[in-house]
Parts: sequence; structure tokens; C-alpha cells
Amino acid sequence: MQDAIHSLVQKQRNYFYSGETLDVKFRQRQLARLKAAIQKKEKDIFEALRQDLNKSEHEAYVTEIGLVYNELKDMLKNVDLWAAPRKEKTPFTHTGAKSFVYKVPYGVTLIIAPWNYPFQLALAPLIGAIGAGNTAIIKPSELTPNTSTVIRDVIVDTFAEEYVAVVEGDKEASECLLREKLDYIFFTGSVAVGKKIMEAAAKQLIPVTLELGGKSPAIVMKDANIRLAAKRIVWGKFINAGQTCVAPDYVLVHTKERRKFLKYVVHYIKKFYGEDIRFHADYPRIVHENHVERLAAMLDEDKIYYGGEYDAAERFMEPTVMVEVNDNDPVMQEEIFGPILPILTFSNDYEVIEKVRRRPSPLALYLFTESKATQQYILESLQFGGGCVNDTLMHLATPYLPFGGFGESGMGSYHGKRSFDTFTHEKGILKQSTTFDIPLRYSKTKRSLNTMRK
Ligand code: NAD
Repeated sequence: MQDAIHSLVQKQRNYFYSGETLDVKFRQRQLARLKAAIQKKEKDIFEALRQDLNKSEHEAYVTEIGLVYNELKDMLKNVDLWAAPRKEKTPFTHTGAKSFVYKVPYGVTLIIAPWNYPFQLALAPLIGAIGAGNTAIIKPSELTPNTSTVIRDVIVDTFAEEYVAVVEGDKEASECLLREKLDYIFFTGSVAVGKKIMEAAAKQLIPVTLELGGKSPAIVMKDANIRLAAKRIVWGKFINAGQTCVAPDYVLVHTKERRKFLKYVVHYIKKFYGEDIRFHADYPRIVHENHVERLAAMLDEDKIYYGGEYDAAERFMEPTVMVEVNDNDPVMQEEIFGPILPILTFSNDYEVIEKVRRRPSPLALYLFTESKATQQYILESLQFGGGCVNDTLMHLATPYLPFGGFGESGMGSYHGKRSFDTFTHEKGILKQSTTFDIPLRYSKTKRSLNTMRK
């Protein structure tokens, strides 16, 4: 496998050096071709997502295909502007010169994707890589084999492998890729694997973007619109059966509003999914039975407030709410990444800050409050990737906001212009005049003045 991958990287490097990808019109044509290929295969993509995760067409469109179309639209519309060299100011000390920032691609890029939004998380970074003029190799997740195949088909039908290629396989395929001298690595996945990626990249000083995970809190203050908070948290938590990197992992609700909040949480779970969720046609499945077992080990019979039913063979777990949860419970030891919602309480703002700071900086944070002062206080005091006030997840569905982590939840960001920037090196160039030569910078010794006159 290593030989085949080595030869693929070599082919991509040669192609990159041909200079074809530097032309912005070329990039736009490729993005348009990618869009047409996705449109042509839309049915197959829906089908693959249904088979891998039982995603409904609606959910697959809203959270995967539609998001990719939006990114394509934004890149196609703006790449001309973003790729143009930028003129900068020139200091007085450099009189005669002009300053520019040139936007240059890195070269051969690698995109490693996870299984939870297997289509979108492979394709959205690709749009950035193509827009910025790179070649790309995509390594989809082996845990969603049907989507991996359809991604390969879309790419093979559209691009020559020296430009964009797909390498399917598990961690062994990733490891082979990571041994190669690549120019950029864009990784989406777990914190544990993210560390391995960075370690491998460090050996060859390859720059990385790491889109990782973590325990993202939803904070419900006393003055929040409790009913709407419960509705939006239930939606954000149980979409894709909780297998969302930015899903609210746990809730911190003010003690005084706990009862009311729980009442609405249960109300909206039933409203969205019905009473007998096992037979709900569109409720997603857990990616693998091992993951159901992992999630089941987080449950504590005495703390289940709602739900708790699961079936590993069916890859099913119903939306589950846990109460009286404390920091030492298994459910608070790692990112849940499944349909379990632990509810913790607090009684003052300081306690919120303290509880969130106890853990590594999360990928997202959701704050529910009507108070501008509280918003400012929490948003300024806590470190996290990004998030929403009075909503969940929606910050990632816009090309106008950077999306990425902070600290252990990752580094770098993308979406919209940030995707272009992520896959671009900014080359600072000073263009000096040759019509005169101001002597100030040279040493004032007689010898050097003489040299200058020559
Ligand atoms: P994962 O880290 O297990 O796998 C991600 C990818 O890395 C897969 O393609 C896999 O084959 C590959 N991989 C696995 N082990 C590897 C190794 N040792 N060396 C090199 N590559 C390896 O993650 P996952 O289980 O697919 O996804 C779930 C995680 O991803 C969660 O933690 C979630 O929060 C995170 N995530 C983050 C984002 C984000 O945008 N920040 C989005 C989705 C998921």
C-alpha cells in the first residue's frame, strides 16, 4: 500500500508543479464540475447515508449535502476576489518600494474525515483545497463504507487522480499517507487521533488544521426562555442520534429552572420522535454496535430520567436524559457522541465558569439567556471554539463564521473564506525600485560608501 500511496503523492506533486491549478478560472471550472457531479449522484449519496447511519433525506440534506452546496456557492462566487494579490502599506523606511501579499496554494494536501457527517466533512474541506489551488487526497472514514464508496465514485468520475484522489481504508491507510511528505494536513476526528496526526506531521514540519471534539456545554440561565432553550437543545443534541461534534454534550441549568426545563425536554423529545422511537423511520442509528456498548457503559439506571433503552445489534439507542449527574460519573469522563443528555445544575454565574473551566476548552458552547450582560460575561470569560447564544449548532451552518476548536478541541478553522485562507499560504512580497538607491541602510564607513558608488 505504501508504494501505491507514494506514487500517488508523487503524481500529485508533479501535477501541482505543472502550474495548472494556479489559474483561478481553472479552479472555478473544477468546483462547478464537482457541484454537477454531486447533483448527479445525489440519490446515491442519500442512499449511502441512509445505509450507514439511517439518515433521512431531510437530515442528510440539511446537515450534509445542502451545507456542501452552500460552501460551493460561496467559493465559486468569491474565489476570484480572495485569490487576488492584496496591496499593503509600505513604511517610510522602504521608500520606493511597494508591498503585496500573494495568495499561494500549499501543494499536495491531505484531508482525513470522520464518520459522523461522512460526506460533508470530506467534501467541505475539499472545496477549500480546490479553491485555493491545491491538489488533494481524501481519506474517508472506514466506519461509513457506503458513503466512502460514493465519495470515491463522485471524485473518480470528476477528477484525474493526480489532481484529486480518494484513498479508502482504515488507520493503516492514514498511517501510510502520513509517512509521505505532504504540504498540508486537514484532519477532522477525535482528540486522541488528532494528537497522533500532529505528531506525525511534526516529524516533517507539515502544517495542520485539527478539527477535533470535546464536551460542549449548553448553559441555561435563570432568565432564559426555558421552553425554547429545551426545544433547541433537544434538536441539537439528538440530531444524528447525538453523533455530532458540536452537539450539546451536557446541560448546565440553573437550579431554579431545572424542573421546568426537564418537563420541556421530555415534551420535545416526544414531539420530535414520537413515543415509540424505536420504530421511528428516520431516527438515525449509532455507527457501530461497539459504539452502542460504549454508550451503554455511560448509563446509570438510578439517574435515567427519560429513555435508556438500547439494542446493540440494531445499532439503536433512544434519546436518554440523565439527572443528578456529577463530575465523577462515567458520562462526564469523555465526549458522549451519542443520544445521552446529562443534566447538571448550578446556582450562580461563577459556578458556571468554574465548572466549564475544569474541563479542556470545548469545541462549542451554547448559552441561553435574555441578558446582554450575562452574554458578555460568559462569552468573554470562557475559552471555546465557537457557539451560539440562544441556539445550538447553527453557527456551523454559515459560511460567514469561522468554524474550529480551541485548545484540545482543535486548531485552525474553515468554512467560507476561512476555508480558502486555511489552504493558502500568504506570501509577503516587497517590490523595490531600481531607479534610485537610498544609502541609509548601508554602513556609513568610507569603504562601504565607496562600494556603493561602484
Ligand atoms: P477518529 O479520530 O477515530 O477517526 C477520524 C479519521 O482518522 C478516520 O478517517 C480514521 O480512519 C482515521 N484514523 C483513525 N485512527 C488513526 C490513526 N491512528 N492514525 C491516523 N488516522 C487514523 O474519529 P471518528 O470516530 O471518526 O469521529 C469522531 C470524533 O470526531 C469525535 O471526537 C468528534 O467530536 C470529532 N469530530 C470533530 C468535528 C469537527 O469539525 N471539529 C467534526 C466531526 C467529528
